[in-house]
Amino acid sequence: MNIVLMGLPGAGKGTQAERIVKEFHIPHISTGDMFRAAVKEQTPLGVEAKRYMDSGQLVPDEVTIGIVKERLSKADCENGFLLDGFPRTVPQAEALEKTLNELSKDIDHVVHIDVDKAKLLVRLTGRRICKQCGATFHVEFNPPAADNVCDACGGELYQRADDNAETVGTRLEVNIAQSAPLLAFYEQRGLLRNIDGDREINIVFEELATILRSKHI
Ligand SMILES: [Zn+2]
Repeated sequence: MNIVLMGLPGAGKGTQAERIVKEFHIPHISTGDMFRAAVKEQTPLGVEAKRYMDSGQLVPDEVTIGIVKERLSKADCENGFLLDGFPRTVPQAEALEKTLNELSKDIDHVVHIDVDKAKLLVRLTGRRICKQCGATFHVEFNPPAADNVCDACGGELYQRADDNAETVGTRLEVNIAQSAPLLAFYEQRGLLRNIDGDREINIVFEELATILRSKHI
């Protein structure tokens, strides 16, 4: 079961990835983890990637795809994998397709957890953190008993600077613009499965699991 997971920040991708990994016993392969592992193991590509990262440059696609290939060649990917955070662009998706071909593998499903921007803004800007103990709350989904007061220690709650509506809105816009061509690419390939992510976590997961169990023929 070879899966690519897509979704905007706040759509619940991380939570669903955890559930998928547990249910289907496939490795969760995120770009960050993959880079860290390659750098730590000092593979030739890991060393090269580190050179770019240390100088503050973007790691070029051919290095990234090489690291992806190394990772997908490992034994734990034999029964499948969950790719998260890669590909990000159409050229990367094309390179992934070629790489999988070389490994005699295929993508079974590209799962897109879909939540509209307005809902994501509420999710992402509602977080409040306790100044004293660091406990987190959400004004809508996990509100403290008294406004702006921590339930645990009575400390004052604050909003992180990068959780404000303007910053979050800009970040979402950038992400939407980036992912649109990629979604279109996978739609055209007949691989895209859109899931309404604006529902309870368990319900989203049930639908996701049903889709993943159904092989596209
Ligand atoms: Zn507190």
